[in-house]
Amino acid sequence: MSYAEVEQRFLALARRFSAAGLGRGDTALVQLPNCAEFYLTFLALLQAGIAPVNALFNHKQNELNTYADQIHPSLLIADRSQPLFKDDHYVELLKARTDNLSTALFRGGSGEDDLENWIDPSLDGLQDISESVIENGPTDPDQIAFFQLSGGSTGTPKLVPRTHNDYDYSIRASAEICGLSQDTRFLCALPAPHNFLLSSPGALGVFHAGGTVVLAANPDPQTCFPIISRHKVTMAALVPSAVSMWLRSVEQAQSDPASENHDLSTLELVQVGGASVAESDARRVPKVLGCALQQVFGMAEGLVNYTRLDDDPEIVFTTQGRPISADDEVRVIDEYGQDVPDGQTGMLATRGPYTFRGYFRSPEANAKSFDDQGFYFSGDLVQRLPSGHLRVVGRVKDLINRGGEKIAAEEIETLLLRHPQVIQAALVAVEDVLLGEKSCAFIVAQGALRPVALRRHLVELGVADYKLPDRVQFIDALPLTAVGKTDKRALRRNLSYGSATIKADKTPTPETL
Ligand code: AMP
Repeated sequence: MSYAEVEQRFLALARRFSAAGLGRGDTALVQLPNCAEFYLTFLALLQAGIAPVNALFNHKQNELNTYADQIHPSLLIADRSQPLFKDDHYVELLKARTDNLSTALFRGGSGEDDLENWIDPSLDGLQDISESVIENGPTDPDQIAFFQLSGGSTGTPKLVPRTHNDYDYSIRASAEICGLSQDTRFLCALPAPHNFLLSSPGALGVFHAGGTVVLAANPDPQTCFPIISRHKVTMAALVPSAVSMWLRSVEQAQSDPASENHDLSTLELVQVGGASVAESDARRVPKVLGCALQQVFGMAEGLVNYTRLDDDPEIVFTTQGRPISADDEVRVIDEYGQDVPDGQTGMLATRGPYTFRGYFRSPEANAKSFDDQGFYFSGDLVQRLPSGHLRVVGRVKDLINRGGEKIAAEEIETLLLRHPQVIQAALVAVEDVLLGEKSCAFIVAQGALRPVALRRHLVELGVADYKLPDRVQFIDALPLTAVGKTDKRALRRNLSYGSATIKADKTPTPETL
């Protein structure tokens, strides 16, 4: 699709939104897979002044409900191939829940509700409504453009308001840092709405530079390698587990003459981010994939760090980069709020031109997430080198990073506790060779309860599959820290001890504070 076609289509859609009475002040709940319509819809919504939440395609009603409850959307845009939208049952539930949902459009819909018809600039009726869009126009530059999804660590998934100005700034600067140009052919094989894929520099960075975005349904080598060779992809953004799979697949192909070889020679840059990459994998990327590596450590809340294209290779292999901007303020602090010397581990606190100022309608979370100077605590444990590069060495926030997909422990624990036989629940991270981490639920239950029943319980609540505990372990009581909180460190340490009661660890650490 050319840029001219993209513009005609998203403007057609924006005008039709306007004609339907939707504009500034409205919000939209969007759930689309990796497809061109995702970007056309996003651009049209921004143009019309409608602020969307772009849910991930693997989210289910549990997640969509919590987003809808927060933004009260007037507009829903979804895909009929997603089982939740195979008929209008869930749409009716959403309407009852949100009180002002007036319009629902579907990729793969029919007639009136077919997104394709709304996007098609060749259909009649656009001339009369073109002026009204210009009248309403986008929201002001410093107002909310859209809501990004927080990786989160609280019971209810939080929303990150992003303004036009802050997002545009981070996109423009990222495109420059990553050397994007009209020759860039960027592969988006992870969920398109994720901050990494959208703005670091992501598809929006590529659009800014006038390059080409190539979409894939998933990051598996079997899916991506033929696409890379067919579309002469020059750059890809991956999570560490995908990098591992790509490395293994190329090495296997090299050692097995019978296997199919795909031409990956156009690849110039592979970005890795979203979770910690093993240093050994990072070092293998140039040798095995024949391209440069860039580490990215970013967050939907704002701050993004990149290793630079001209950094010393040792820096690229062993750090997660330095901030985009000289105006990004980064502090590495101890539990008393004091700055720690370079090279020592501390909690990351940041403030800067494109870092958000607060979660949407979440005063409690905001009180905990910011200090009185407006510094945001990301919940990451980092070390800073004298060069300003950061190393991510752990975290204090209570989440599981399952191959880049974040699971807030509290969200799943709250849902587990809704099972009548569950008395206590704690979700912890378990090391995993491929994904880095998987989840284990420790359960104190009344009477006989099987893991499969808990799984069914969560499925019935409409929880996204990646959030279902990979493992369930029943115990007699949850261990407590000195201050009486669940001691997750003790749980993790004792993972293999089956159903024995686990003793509390009294030593406070950043993870138990
Ligand atoms: P999200 O907002 O979903 O992008 O999640 C942001 C969080 O992902 C960060 O606060 C980190 O905990 C984690 N993260 C992102 N990039 C990296 C990385 N390169 N290495 C380690 N953790 C990362």
